[in-house]
Amino acid sequence: MANKKQSSASSFSSNVDRMVDHAFSILNLDAGTAQAIKACDSVLQVKFPVKIRGEIQTFTGWRAVHSTHRLPAKGGIRFAAYSDQDEVEALAALMTYKCALVDVPFGGSKGALHIDPSQYSRDEMQLITRRYTLELVRKGFLNPATNVPAPDVGTGQREMAWIADTYKHLNPEDINYQACVTGKPVQQGGIRGRVEATGRGVQYAIREFFRHPRDLTAANLSAGLAGKRVIVQGLGNVGYHAAKFLQEEDDVKITAIIEYDGVISNENGLNVEEVYRFKIEHGSFKEFPGGTFSPDNKGALEMECDILIPAALERQISKENASRIQAKLIVEAANGPITFDADKILRDKGIVIMPDVYVNAGGVTVSYFEWIRNLSHIRFGRMERRYDELRGNEYATLLEEATGSKLSASTRSMIVRGASELDLVRSGLDDTMRNAYQEMHETLHSNDKIADLRTAAFVIAIRKISRSYLDVGIY
Ligand code: GLU
Repeated sequence: MANKKQSSASSFSSNVDRMVDHAFSILNLDAGTAQAIKACDSVLQVKFPVKIRGEIQTFTGWRAVHSTHRLPAKGGIRFAAYSDQDEVEALAALMTYKCALVDVPFGGSKGALHIDPSQYSRDEMQLITRRYTLELVRKGFLNPATNVPAPDVGTGQREMAWIADTYKHLNPEDINYQACVTGKPVQQGGIRGRVEATGRGVQYAIREFFRHPRDLTAANLSAGLAGKRVIVQGLGNVGYHAAKFLQEEDDVKITAIIEYDGVISNENGLNVEEVYRFKIEHGSFKEFPGGTFSPDNKGALEMECDILIPAALERQISKENASRIQAKLIVEAANGPITFDADKILRDKGIVIMPDVYVNAGGVTVSYFEWIRNLSHIRFGRMERRYDELRGNEYATLLEEATGSKLSASTRSMIVRGASELDLVRSGLDDTMRNAYQEMHETLHSNDKIADLRTAAFVIAIRKISRSYLDVGIY
């Protein structure tokens, strides 16, 4: 096992640490407790060989466990050619604060495999994923009770199904084997609504922001989401779903979508679904007929808009470009898209930032629901749905008899309908995102030392974590 390596001032983990330190200074926590909260519990590094096309290749992977004050430790696994240990540790730490903020009772963890998935066939990816899983299981870094991965950049349902199956074969006697990983396909023990959960959470987060006039004024935004001009960076799982739901259900105008090879823009609004389908079909949206393409993806972040949603990678807004950003509100759908220095520059300009630990917590929230579903071995709503329907029918009939008038078909079906698993997942996610924002809002406006939502989020998270340390002591 590798020790935590020294990180330079500009590294991802030191950026996270600096943001957390600021919250510590407000909370006046004693140095020992602060250090215990900040320290990354353990980091596993694995190097393993796999025979690919007749040749042996050695792969490097990590799994960092940042905290275990709640178990299991939770967080995704990314497959990316740029991954390194520092990034994995920073992301594991963010998971700790994220879970605490939204009351998901997990510790924080993250994993990565240093790989460019586009260079391998499906079968090769399966072989590599299963081999990586074997390492994690053998070394105690994957287990339904202690460490539960999920999808992240470069991984999805397919990889989660392979991970779950590998774990099951290694632990056939574990009755809870399905709970060893979340983000699985529904037919393999996954939960409805998990694929789009992070994007859906981004939508719910923005909706909640727009319910707070005081925060809208701070961002210099008028009331009402409809018609707001939004730029999204990244058309991966999170960016795609967030942009699609906001456009289709909240009537925002997606004026630009930024990807690694350029930006497509249209002042009258892009049709997200069409852009997405075009990109899948052609491998790029360069030739998309409904907008104008430019290769300047970096400069596109600086275009004028109401809301900027970075939903791609970390450190996209740094002190190099922060002063040129023109958005009124930045919604961090990705993890760590704004560096510590850039954060200050943006706030000095009056731009409001909704922080990643809050904004993208929808994924882990629905993962929590999936884990509970796996442990209870039953789909949410299975027992009560038809009963609720029966009662609803009785109620609707009584209402009609009492009033002497017939209910409209839509009102009747609203009263009668029992909640499906997807209804419950959405309701639980919406409730989680609303509660967490309201807590942040209250904390922000009740303490003069707290000037921004990110600090409020870290203060809330650290307060909760430190309470658990103080309650049970350090063991
Ligand atoms: N990878 C996601 C995140 O960064 C999801 C983690 C999970 O569901 O455990 O929050």
